[in-house]
Amino acid sequence: PPDVEQLGKSTWTFLHSVAATYPESPSPSQQDDMRQFMNIFGKIYPCWFCAKDFQKWSSKNEPKVKTQEEFGRWLCDAHNEVNAKLGKPKFDCNLWKQRWKDGWDE
Ligand code: FAD
Repeated sequence: PPDVEQLGKSTWTFLHSVAATYPESPSPSQQDDMRQFMNIFGKIYPCWFCAKDFQKWSSKNEPKVKTQEEFGRWLCDAHNEVNAKLGKPKFDCNLWKQRWKDGWDE
């Protein structure tokens, strides 16, 4: 199977970067695209048990796609859900944009 950790780190980088470039005021069709993308993402993510839990979480927490800010925070919450499951520290979602839009070194 693919390396769950490496896959995860790369995927979060991708997803948060997508949020960082998502329009601040997306059109209805852009909102629709993002909703569909996250829906399909949950079906095809190559770590099946990760995908299953993600789908379960997002069915109770529908993707928020009305603004960049709300989408970024929704993704941050999704990531924190996985952090909690893995016993990793919770990330402060107020720092989401600073981390993924402006960028910082770790
Ligand atoms: P990562 O968690 O990959 O995070 C990378 C960087 O993102 C961090 O260094 C930090 O700067 C930043 N960050 C951390 N938290 C947040 C946040 N909440 N919001 C914004 N930025 C943040 N692994 C499993 O073992 N079991 C699973 O069930 C599982 N489910 C997953 C589901 C999904 C949808 C994804 C994308 C990944 C999943 N993973 C799962 C992988 C796991 O989340 C980590 O990616 C992996 O353990 C590597 O962790 P890491 O410590 O390198 O940092």
